[in-house]
Amino acid sequence: MSHERRVIVLGSTGSIGVSTLRVIERLNESGGYRFRVVGLAAASNVDRLAEQARRFAVPQVAIAAASKVSQNSFHGDTRVHAGPGAAADLVRHADADLVVAAIVGFAGLAPTVAAIERGRHVALANKETLVAAGSIIMPLARERGVRIIPIDSEHSAIYQCLRAGPDGDHGVRRVRRITLTASGGPFRDWSADQIAKATIKEALAHPTWNMGAKVTIDSATMMNKGLEVIEASYLFGLPSEQIEVLVHPQSIVHGLVEFDDGSVLAQLSPPDMCAPIQYALTAPDRPEGCAERLDWGTLRRLDFEPPDEARFPCLRLARLALERGGGAGVVLNAANEIAVAAFLEHRLRFGQIPEIVEATMNALQKCDATTIEAVTALDASAREDAHRRIG
Ligand code: MG
Repeated sequence: MSHERRVIVLGSTGSIGVSTLRVIERLNESGGYRFRVVGLAAASNVDRLAEQARRFAVPQVAIAAASKVSQNSFHGDTRVHAGPGAAADLVRHADADLVVAAIVGFAGLAPTVAAIERGRHVALANKETLVAAGSIIMPLARERGVRIIPIDSEHSAIYQCLRAGPDGDHGVRRVRRITLTASGGPFRDWSADQIAKATIKEALAHPTWNMGAKVTIDSATMMNKGLEVIEASYLFGLPSEQIEVLVHPQSIVHGLVEFDDGSVLAQLSPPDMCAPIQYALTAPDRPEGCAERLDWGTLRRLDFEPPDEARFPCLRLARLALERGGGAGVVLNAANEIAVAAFLEHRLRFGQIPEIVEATMNALQKCDATTIEAVTALDASAREDAHRRIG
């Protein structure tokens, strides 16, 4: 039962990475599992990375910001990869059974591709990878026999519902539609005018989930749910029409699957990323871990309402990108990353985020991207275009 599983955690100093290490620690303590962390990668937080490397006795680490590393940042025996390609190098050099891909944004693409090419199973928290390159990643994973297990809570929920049959796997053959729930973010009840002028502090105050800055802003614009519709389309092989979004402010029901016979399966748990992270590590097993439990005594109601695309145009833009296909997902994602960064640096108003995304999408409408190289080139052009628009 407790054979050792070697894990690489990419993005280990971020919100998902830190939670992943906590889940691993708990599973190892409980005795049923033995996870060995064989590699960690971070963007720039050397101190936290060094502390994690010590605590888990990790033989190899990667840090993107090479200038932050000094001679004695890490223990003498630690192999250190540094520079922009460091995470992908780590994946190529460390032997692992599973790679947890939790780097935020487009930067997560190259190391995820490296993991699949090496035949490592991937626990995927980086939705931008599928948004930009799902049509390349999913066939590549199938070709290499690699399992892509979603960590994103909604996708984990759908994945769990699809695997919940007696044969362990319903597949999507009898699926009528899937539903991703959305908390609605901090501006669920705000008017369009109020939303347009929202401050950074207001946008970062998420009502239910505690996450990193990029995904928290994406939740406030609801671009996060738009990206998740695209992610779901590639993960489960379903078109936009079969993927529904429902606003569910309590964030207890994470995803639903409706089958042809009218039955609906749902997955429920408190809004805590420990649950989907653990499922990605132990699926289909469900040992006790660090996730909280639902308290049915205090849970009085579960509300659902359709999303308002007029107040949250990012949802509409993401569906448009999915329907256009080609390089539209790359452009949507790149422009959004640039716009969100500019908003967080006080260079853009909140209401301008979808405007920048839409204008960039329209400018680069004809671009296709059928290889990773083409995706990377288009990502760079889209960033440049979005930058120019922001000025
Ligand atoms: Mg999510």
